[in-house]
Amino acid sequence: MTEPAKTFEPATCQHCEGIGCTYCNKTGTVLVTAPKTLCKHCEGVGCIYCGFTGWTGPKSKCD
Ligand SMILES: [Zn+2]
Ligand SMILES: [Zn+2]
Repeated sequence: MTEPAKTFEPATCQHCEGIGCTYCNKTGTVLVTAPKTLCKHCEGVGCIYCGFTGWTGPKSKCD
């Protein structure tokens, strides 16, 4: 079974709105699965499904 390589793009961390927090390693930006989509579970507020970044498929969660 082959899986297409995931691509990631930078998105502003929804938890801190770019200020920097522990969820984005203080960068204010997170790499998320492209095309970036707000987390459907929390609509960008942050929850366990999005690693509190507000985005679907944050890269850090997959590493
Ligand atoms: Zn943040
Ligand atoms: Zn979420």
